[in-house]
Amino acid sequence: MAPKTAVVTGASSGIGAACARQLVEAGFSVVVGARRLPRLHEVADPIGATARSLDVTDQASVDSFCAEIDECHVLVNNAGGALGLEPIAETVDEKWEQMFHMNVMGPMRMTRALLPKLIASGDGQVITIGSIAGHESYPGGGGYNAAKHGIRAVMHALRQELLGQPVRVTQIDPGMVETEFSIVRFGGDADRASTVYRGVEALTADDVAACVVFAATRPSHVNIDALIVKPRDQASATNLYRRPS
Ligand code: NAP
Repeated sequence: MAPKTAVVTGASSGIGAACARQLVEAGFSVVVGARRLPRLHEVADPIGATARSLDVTDQASVDSFCAEIDECHVLVNNAGGALGLEPIAETVDEKWEQMFHMNVMGPMRMTRALLPKLIASGDGQVITIGSIAGHESYPGGGGYNAAKHGIRAVMHALRQELLGQPVRVTQIDPGMVETEFSIVRFGGDADRASTVYRGVEALTADDVAACVVFAATRPSHVNIDALIVKPRDQASATNLYRRPS
């Protein structure tokens, strides 16, 4: 039997890169997209995945990326992230707009573009990486919280719209995962980013990718609707156990 095709957005680092590797190991033919093409090739080439430039915030980029995809069984909407930790009183409009485009409009655009192919596959699945930030808000998280709450609402609507179609809709909502997420959030400030994980045994990107592969490899009639996965050291977005250094 020909391998099923999985498309992973934001696979040039972190959770997306781990998903690409583990989906290949699970027998999928994998197509990956992100903006930093050299980084994307570093992930894709050793595992035999297909790498293509993709900016999920740009409709033309989504269109040309998806036009090259002949068939799609699994779409992993992973591209996204947070920008800044400013309180609402100091909101930077551009950061909020960008977070909305990355985390809500991007997955919507990718889903809309690939839905005909997911349905035509006869066994499609949309897996979206949300966050616990989409379940609980925290100080400084307003824009990211709004975006991740938003995409969870979108996927909830999609699941109802697709009832009766051969497409599953799954949301994986991680807590703290040590990736480049905080470096991006703090504009490249690696020292500040490292304090986020200080003393905590965070999840790894592979821990989250294992959840994605688990959802993608259940029998077709089994839909993992939603899965919240946090480190043992994390009780909520802001309540963490930190070992003394
Ligand atoms: P990461 O290491 O910073 O990876 C983010 C990925 O998204 C990169 O590959 C980046 O690639 C891609 N990306 C960003 N904007 C994009 C765009 N406009 N178009 C295409 N790709 C784009 O962070 P991560 O932790 O793996 O994050 C992956 C997902 O998990 C995100 O949705 C994030 O919100 C979510 N999440 C993370 C955590 C955490 O603690 N790390 C927790 C919960 C949820 P390019 O820059 O090359 O485009």
